[in-house]
Amino acid sequence: MPRPFYQHIDRQLSKPDLPSKKHILFILHDQLNLSAFPDELLRRKPLLLFVESAEKGNSLPYHKKKLTYVLSSQRHFAIACAEQGYEVCYHATKGHYDDGLQEIMDQAPQAHFHFMTPSEWSTRQRLYQLKKHHSERFTELPNTFFMADADQWKGKVSANFVMETFYREMRQQTGYLMDDQGKPAGGEWNFDELNRKKLPKGKSGPQVPEFQPDAITSEVMELVEDQFPDHFGSTEGFSYPVTRQQALDAADHFFQYRLPEFGPYEDAMAAGEYTLFHSKLSLHLNNGLLLPEELCNRAVSMYEDGLAPIQSVEGFIRQIIGWREYIKIYYEAMMPEVREANHFGFTESLPEMFWTGKTDMKCMQECLKPVLDDGYSHHIPRLMVLSNFSNLTRTNPYQLFLWFWYAYVDAYEWVVLPNVLGMSTYADGGVLASKPYAAGGNYINKMSDYCNHCSYSISKKTGDQACPFNYLYWNFVGDFPEVFSGSGRSSFMTSMWNKKSDEEKHQIRESSRKFLDSLKRYDDTEFGEEV
Ligand SMILES: Cc1cc2nc3c(=O)[nH]c(=O)nc-3n(C[C@H](O)[C@H](O)[C@H](O)COP(=O)(O)OP(=O)(O)OC[C@H]3O[C@@H](n4cnc5c(N)ncnc54)[C@H](O)[C@@H]3O)c2cc1C
Ligand code: SF4
Repeated sequence: MPRPFYQHIDRQLSKPDLPSKKHILFILHDQLNLSAFPDELLRRKPLLLFVESAEKGNSLPYHKKKLTYVLSSQRHFAIACAEQGYEVCYHATKGHYDDGLQEIMDQAPQAHFHFMTPSEWSTRQRLYQLKKHHSERFTELPNTFFMADADQWKGKVSANFVMETFYREMRQQTGYLMDDQGKPAGGEWNFDELNRKKLPKGKSGPQVPEFQPDAITSEVMELVEDQFPDHFGSTEGFSYPVTRQQALDAADHFFQYRLPEFGPYEDAMAAGEYTLFHSKLSLHLNNGLLLPEELCNRAVSMYEDGLAPIQSVEGFIRQIIGWREYIKIYYEAMMPEVREANHFGFTESLPEMFWTGKTDMKCMQECLKPVLDDGYSHHIPRLMVLSNFSNLTRTNPYQLFLWFWYAYVDAYEWVVLPNVLGMSTYADGGVLASKPYAAGGNYINKMSDYCNHCSYSISKKTGDQACPFNYLYWNFVGDFPEVFSGSGRSSFMTSMWNKKSDEEKHQIRESSRKFLDSLKRYDDTEFGEEV
């Protein structure tokens, strides 16, 4: 009799005879690619074990589309493994992953278990506890979903270990975009200067392909709506790829139609344009449906075949072998203490608009909408609008980190924590970034068309009609001059603040006080105790 919400799984996978099993390979929801596992182990045809954990799903109010993506991808992958001739056990537990594993261990007393080091800290610690108590029953495999060996690099993590140094080393190691003399292709390591174009009026990004839910995904959507009713967002309109083939098709579309213009418009934002020329592939890289090497190889071959310019291909490669890998190394070096990091000591709860999307600020509306709808936005809305606003409104960085973690489809702790507590909020005090991402409305106006449609005025500096980013930014510089007093443009900002008249400073303080006092906050402190 099929279990409710598991009818397709139960019909398509036969029940394994657990007591007789000798080798079981436990595959986590973010390790969905057999080519990452050792051939030698796979040749022995171990039973493949997948676990759905209700406790993990409930540990944060994860976006319903994220839960749908994670569970549906895992179910499709489990069925695809069975079609390749593997025996599969698909287990649902009320507990966490270790509880699920223990339940199967009890039913398979003869089995030896293999698992790959989990990318996320809590799951890793849980499996380590289990392994500690049953060391003879476990073999741990190194995590091969990343291109750099974190153990080799993590000792270097400090304020002096900049991404650029690491990235150049990775370029040399991989040979991506390197010429025969060992020099960077195109004569430069970095084409960022060419990659800061605003989207011209009337131009839009190509339509991103949508994948209609099949019967398996539809069943997962029903489960999510039934069992996680109060979570963020909705399952309605779910159209993400959930199989390897669909993810490959989505990647094809990116390479064909978006990569050539990825570079020039990498930092652009525009009303109603949520993906522009970005890949929207992070969710598949982060659960294994796609591998970083295959995307890099494809991008490099597009450059070599003259199908995409160097500034786009270099920009894309930099994100993957540079930022993505560097972020993972930072996570390995800084956990678990960094979870407590809060350089400025901000204690305010998340602004309520992060849950409702309701605000008069056009930029915030536009940057929150795709997150509420789809659990996605590209890098610049995450950094320069949402994190910027959180910083300027003195929001507790831990709450922002949790929000990014549950609201985004591509978020796993190893990637979201460094990006929020390191890169965007400066909570770590400057290990990852040299200053917090804080900026006035002019930056947003320069990179988008939002201000043309806003009820606030970008040209007004203080008062009820003025753009809140304008006065909140100076209020921030005035309160924390030390973080802006380094060098270059930042120190220029401190001296500009110092040159403002007392009256101007008073107006800035007053406008900020009024705005911050009236800002509605959302209390989600109950979340995140056990993730
Ligand atoms: C506050 C904040 C939170 C973020 N949270 C996440 C997250 O939870 N998950 C996540 O994958 N990325 C996160 N990022 C990084 C980046 O914004 C996303 O990877 C990117 O926007 C995903 O969209 P895309 O696939 O269209 O990316 P593209 O612009 O097409 O970039 C290509 C790929 O490069 C990788 N990449 C680029 N920048 C980063 C980075 N800083 N860290 C890690 N990988 C990177 C991603 O895998 C991405 O798919 C965050 C950034 C910020 C500032
Ligand atoms: S005017 Fe200010 S609040 Fe309005 S869209 Fe522009 S930056 Fe955002």
